[in-house]
Amino acid sequence: MQRITIAIDGFSSCGKSTLAKALAAKLGYSYVDTGAMYRAVTLYCMEHGIIKDGAFEELEVNKALDHIQLDFRYNSQTHASDMYLNGRNVEKEIRQMDVSNMVSPISKVHEVRKRMVALQRLMGKDKGVVMDGRDIGTNVFTDAELKIFMTADNDIRTQRRVDELKAKGIKVSVDDVRKNLMERDYEDSHRKENPLTQAPDAIVLDNSDLTREEQMDFVLKLVMELKLPEQSV
Ligand code: C5P
Repeated sequence: MQRITIAIDGFSSCGKSTLAKALAAKLGYSYVDTGAMYRAVTLYCMEHGIIKDGAFEELEVNKALDHIQLDFRYNSQTHASDMYLNGRNVEKEIRQMDVSNMVSPISKVHEVRKRMVALQRLMGKDKGVVMDGRDIGTNVFTDAELKIFMTADNDIRTQRRVDELKAKGIKVSVDDVRKNLMERDYEDSHRKENPLTQAPDAIVLDNSDLTREEQMDFVLKLVMELKLPEQSV
């Protein structure tokens, strides 16, 4: 079947990456977790004293970008791609609450967005990709053949996030997680540049009461409805 671009955007902890990962595996596509890229930039800024007491100078962040190299590498144990920052696996560090608390302000920086979007376009240039984030369907790949906008009930999202972090051995309180999700959703939806918003041609998937299998069936049905031609090569 002809390979396409699938853009999955939506609020924090809606299960975007779980669905995107499974979908990519099912279709034999690559998966790009764009949130991990913004998280890795944030981690670099924290580790290099650019973020101090929750504040930073935009100019310092811009300069740091020349020293940041990001790539995804396949992890054969988890069957997923891990985020590498300058050759170091930072998959666990970037999920910590201190990074979660600073990632939205960092992702508002114009130069950060410019660089990340350029990298994402490069990663998806040959199609056959499932990319999840906040601005994939509205900015990174406006021509994506399939755009999904995911949402879910706030309590369910909070609990999912708590469970996910616990499974990774990261201790968190439910209240802290809820506060972080709500704040990020607000900041991500209200920023000037490429805010989180539903693309006019995106299909809404509210997965509050759906199992993983039901979500997968929902999206696979949409892929089938595209009636993609067989690949000529
Ligand atoms: O997807 P995840 O929750 O890991 O994303 C972390 C943060 O990265 C988001 O809250 C948002 O501030 C930023 N982000 C973004 N654009 C994307 C993906 C993530 O601004 N495409």
